[in-house]
Amino acid sequence: MSEYSGRHRPATRAERRAIERRSRLPKSFGPAYLVPTAAAATLVLTAAGATAASSSSFAGGAGTQAGAAFLAEGQDKGTTSLLSDPALGDDAREEVAASAQESSGLATRRQAVSTSVAKDQGRTQERKRVARDAARKEIAADKKRDAKIAADKKRDETSSTTPATSSSSTSSDTPAQGAQGAQSWVKPLDNAVFTSPFGTRWGKLHAGQDYAASIGTPLKAMSSGTVIGAGPMSGYGNYIDVKYWDGTVSRYGHLSSISASVGQQVSTGDVVALSGNTGHSTGPHLHMEIHPGGGGAIDPAGWLAERGIS
Ligand SMILES: [Zn+2]
Repeated sequence: MSEYSGRHRPATRAERRAIERRSRLPKSFGPAYLVPTAAAATLVLTAAGATAASSSSFAGGAGTQAGAAFLAEGQDKGTTSLLSDPALGDDAREEVAASAQESSGLATRRQAVSTSVAKDQGRTQERKRVARDAARKEIAADKKRDAKIAADKKRDETSSTTPATSSSSTSSDTPAQGAQGAQSWVKPLDNAVFTSPFGTRWGKLHAGQDYAASIGTPLKAMSSGTVIGAGPMSGYGNYIDVKYWDGTVSRYGHLSSISASVGQQVSTGDVVALSGNTGHSTGPHLHMEIHPGGGGAIDPAGWLAERGIS
């Protein structure tokens, strides 16, 4: 009995087809073999060596319990109604009893069929259990992987902010670095008043960002780096280019004076020029450009925001 405890679930359509197919196949068994599905189901419940007589009483007792179990699960209305229908149940029991009297050989073959149905069901359940286990394992692995990715990401974010901290601690050994970390970033001028963004203006690209600044306002290196260009230039008036440790080049234009020379190492916050109104300028201001890797100018807004100095 215990090996059929898993029977208390609705038969799948394939299983029911298999039961029907088997109940039809062996014609030599005679018309008595063509028992209703309910009888076949009863046989499955009683297959393990039970005699037809005892299975008859079994169908009345345990069979009702089986029906109750189906009802409790609220599934397989067809089987439930068959098993709980007293009239049909009696018919099935009569069929079983009658067929048992026919011949012991038939009863044996029938049991073999029922056992094989039960085995099929057992195999199906085993396949389903294996599939469920595999799915569960896969989900668990996915969760583990997601957790690892999240942890890695968190570690990366933490370590990316670490250099600024560690370099500021090493900067205490190198006074030239000043109070600012070598890889930290500062605004080019204090109390900056943003006046004009990067973008096309009157059909020409305004390749930088403008800040109103009275003439003589100190302009600072935004991080540690090297001065790679300085002097007068058409349009810019006086300009200074600083290449930072990360390869970014900043350009300041319209300067009134330049206070660092080409090739000079600068530290974060070092004053490299004073603002002015030279070149094509409609009033005192700083024109600042950002060239990542020394290439084409980009909109400084996003670049500044990434460094927390917008
Ligand atoms: Zn400008």
